[in-house]
Amino acid sequence: MSDLQTVRDSLVAQAEALAKRVEKIEAHLRGVDRDTPDNWRERAQFLENDEVLEALDEHDLAQIGQIKAALARVDAGTYGECADCGEAIAVGRLKALPTTTTCIDCAS
Ligand SMILES: [Zn+2]
Repeated sequence: MSDLQTVRDSLVAQAEALAKRVEKIEAHLRGVDRDTPDNWRERAQFLENDEVLEALDEHDLAQIGQIKAALARVDAGTYGECADCGEAIAVGRLKALPTTTTCIDCAS
């Protein structure tokens, strides 16, 4: 059970780190204390940065969702079971991909 607790702790830590980053990105995107540049070239750069940040934000949110789902599986006692075939997912795979829901056979 201690392994599962370790997994749980690291998932919680990851989710917290991601949530902090999302908060920062969203504060930035909301444009707090931000001037829009007058120069069109700067403005284009500005918008491009926003797109990058938005993509990062979406990616982080998706990852938080996956981590939450993994935590729910830990709590339900189904963590580490393949969602497709019901077999145990190899520990090495879980360490590399803690939020995975399928074993290597079903994933390929
Ligand atoms: Zn499987």
